[in-house]
Amino acid sequence: MPSTSSSSDDDDISGKSGSSPTRPKRRRSKPLKVSNQIPPSRREEIEKALEDNQGTPARWSRKDGPKFHRFLRKRISPGTIRQIEYDLIDVDIGESWPIPITVIHGARPGPVVTLLGAIHGNELVGPLALTYLSGPNFIGEDKAIDPAAMAGTLRIIPVVNLPGYRRQSRYMPDGRDLNRGFPGKPDSNTTSRVANRLWNEIISTSDHVIDLHTAAVGRTNMPQIRANLAHPSSNRIARAFGIETILDNQGPRGSLRRVANDAGVAAITYEGGGSNEADPESVQVAIYGILNVLRSLRAIPGYPSRPRFRILASGSVWVRSDQGGLLDVLTPAGSFIQEGETVATVTDPERPGENFDILSPARGLLISTATHPFVTAGTPIGHLLPMTGGTQTLRTRLDEEGCLITSGSDGEPPWREDDEIEDISVEGEWSGGSPDAEWSLDEESAAEEEADEADPNWI
Ligand SMILES: [Zn+2]
Repeated sequence: MPSTSSSSDDDDISGKSGSSPTRPKRRRSKPLKVSNQIPPSRREEIEKALEDNQGTPARWSRKDGPKFHRFLRKRISPGTIRQIEYDLIDVDIGESWPIPITVIHGARPGPVVTLLGAIHGNELVGPLALTYLSGPNFIGEDKAIDPAAMAGTLRIIPVVNLPGYRRQSRYMPDGRDLNRGFPGKPDSNTTSRVANRLWNEIISTSDHVIDLHTAAVGRTNMPQIRANLAHPSSNRIARAFGIETILDNQGPRGSLRRVANDAGVAAITYEGGGSNEADPESVQVAIYGILNVLRSLRAIPGYPSRPRFRILASGSVWVRSDQGGLLDVLTPAGSFIQEGETVATVTDPERPGENFDILSPARGLLISTATHPFVTAGTPIGHLLPMTGGTQTLRTRLDEEGCLITSGSDGEPPWREDDEIEDISVEGEWSGGSPDAEWSLDEESAAEEEADEADPNWI
């Protein structure tokens, strides 16, 4: 069973930027900061989880000599790169959906980090970011990821849900959501079998997993990390990713992130952009974030960049339309908006000349907006992190249209100490228990899952 370490030096995220002229000595056992801005009950939970985690043994030691990486019945030599084809499903005849995996096995021992794209087949920011990251601009001698200089192992899987990707669909061929099927079963439905193979051979054998997503069809997300901050090693890589917005929650039932955390594997989800679109800014932020995590884990040389502040959100509010018709969103995802500000207008083709404004119920950061114009009364059209404090700090990173410039989207961010980062809390609860619960699609799969459990023949 995999375990993660908090006592060894692999998880030190207090590194400094290479550009700093006076680089102080690395502090090896710096305590992890828990924001005193987080609501007291959640703060207690997180602190307790971090305390309990002290002393978990690591699966590797930096003192070990070079070793082969055993992966999918192959032995990968230290300091080498391998391209592997991995069958999503085990069949003698028919389609086995072979997906390409790039494995970079460093010359020195270190953590196993797995990067995943397109678990939802139509979410293309992950495949784009991971394809660039697997290419010659990032991998090779003297590049950011140099197997000769690397500690540990990196597995890059740009497209996980290959059948969904080919059909430009979020779902697996049986209509199920792969990211609700973990850890899966070897003799169950198609999605469950695929999830089970991925779980046994790729996820559970990782120390750290970064899962790249976008919003589902009909909406778009500003770049954000989702992580269970009470899971110590996930907390570390969530912060190490180096972007401003972190949504603290454990993830939906059956999601890779939640199931991985339950098994002691660090896992975070990155969200940026929308389905079926390239969104270059979200791609760039993803690449910077991954390099930041690898640097923080001391898997690759260099010092991670850090944002000016972090928004740690334990809840949100929804902006809804009170009318039906066609939507025109005026404030894009990433906008800092005031209470009462017009977020969108609704018009009705049958009532030309009449339009209704949709006003924001609170001041805060709009992390997601609808892109599909069709609305009925009650349709959520925006997802907002309500902010009471920290708005002066937030304003320092707004562009002329009032949108947050996410760290990494405007080039290499400046160096700063981890304890120089201002934590801004967003208090509250996730409606429905998950950040996306009010957007309609996710409930359908949750409901489907409940139905499956009720009917044993259907599993
Ligand atoms: Zn997704």
